[in-house]
Amino acid sequence: MSGKYFKICGGALKTPGWEMMNNKEKLLWLLDKTTPLKTWSFLEDLQRTEKLSASAISDLQWARLQELLEFAYRKTAFYRQRFDRIGLRPSDLKCREDFAKIPLLTREELGQHRAQIKSGESDFFIRSSGSTGRSPSQTHVDFKAASQKYAVYLRHLLRSGWDFDTKIIHFLPSVYEKKIVDRENGIKQLLSTFVQNEIAHAFFTSREVLFYDGLSPIIEKEKLKYYFKKINAFKNVIIMGRGSFLGLLAHNLRMSGWAIVKPRAIVNIGELLPEPLAQRIAAVFDAPVYNIYGSAELSYIAGSCPQKSLLHLNEETHYVETVKDGDGSSISGKWGNIVVTDLFNHSMPLIRYQVGDVGHIRQDGCGCGGSRLLEVGGRQEALIKLNGRDPISEKEICDDLLDFENIWQFKLEFRGNGAYKLEIVGDNVHCHQESIMGRLKAMGFDKVSVNFTERLDDHVDKMRYVKVQDMSSAVNVSR
Ligand SMILES: [Zn+2]
Repeated sequence: MSGKYFKICGGALKTPGWEMMNNKEKLLWLLDKTTPLKTWSFLEDLQRTEKLSASAISDLQWARLQELLEFAYRKTAFYRQRFDRIGLRPSDLKCREDFAKIPLLTREELGQHRAQIKSGESDFFIRSSGSTGRSPSQTHVDFKAASQKYAVYLRHLLRSGWDFDTKIIHFLPSVYEKKIVDRENGIKQLLSTFVQNEIAHAFFTSREVLFYDGLSPIIEKEKLKYYFKKINAFKNVIIMGRGSFLGLLAHNLRMSGWAIVKPRAIVNIGELLPEPLAQRIAAVFDAPVYNIYGSAELSYIAGSCPQKSLLHLNEETHYVETVKDGDGSSISGKWGNIVVTDLFNHSMPLIRYQVGDVGHIRQDGCGCGGSRLLEVGGRQEALIKLNGRDPISEKEICDDLLDFENIWQFKLEFRGNGAYKLEIVGDNVHCHQESIMGRLKAMGFDKVSVNFTERLDDHVDKMRYVKVQDMSSAVNVSR
């Protein structure tokens, strides 16, 4: 990454880079020098730390982890009790195995003990998750952590080929149009949302948000034309959104036959991105597809590298583990629960927080010299176990089924007694029924019915490829 702005680190205003910077870069740099918004410095810091060796980055992570534990012990009733209960002080933890003795923090606990987890330090920012299917959560973030997280976001953008002149077209479900304001926090939350998303994006990334209704396989022609014009209006553009919608957009644009101006990149954010879908999107737009993984509570945890679809962990800002059975022990088999410690948020420390997804930290490197790789398997509750086989993740099911080009969307639903129902939306897809059944059998689904349909009924926000109604069929690795 040849960022021209890194030539001017810490220098006086008149530096060789200054003339080359556009107004947004200048503003971000000036704010860094004159206000507590230190995003620029953090970005420079990330540029430095990402070049460190694996052992140096590991040491840095451990130092930040210890600092966070000390802080949490001193400042929060919740973590002090946690440590006292296991009979340890933060200073007793000498290695990562010791760290794994700290009990996991579940989403439910975060909801119940929010007041005790807050440290009382500056907590101006509130992050809210409004996605359907999970209970809403609210996390407080201090100003420093917020500007650090914004720097991480900018690094992800830089890696996808973005610069300060790039236009971002961000597709979001229309449910986000009506921002839900929590009564308890009212104005404060509204202000937080405004500062975090709107002001930051408006100033430093030329972002335009376009909304869509649901995930109907056919995008209405007028709407499609509108999206098409918006995308084609810019030579230097990044298209951002959830994989499921970007896939539909690509499919509809391909069917329209309109000539798309090649965007700089496509970025999936906020959803699982199956590999076959990424390939289809890349083919239609003739552009690279990147993937950013995170959660509302923890912001950006990992992002794909230009060379691979797997995700590089943001080791400087998050400590990520994959664990089994809630005791923090090492996992057997491929998938473990993703457990994350946010190294920067002191306002509401999240230590060993269970995100609710399964993942696999790869032992093999990427070859680009980047950090360790994380493979995300989808939601924890969508992990399926069949007749003594290894659990199958949402991602594996997606990779297998979306491998059939004619399948655009599907939903696999548990019907009880080991039986599953697969609903498929696609193009002449019934011709492939036999091979689809064969694929399902090979995965271990003995009792499965396949239906072809015009549209799936209940997708308004996030795509849920796998729906397990009876939780007893899912592998509950969390308890
Ligand atoms: Zn890489």
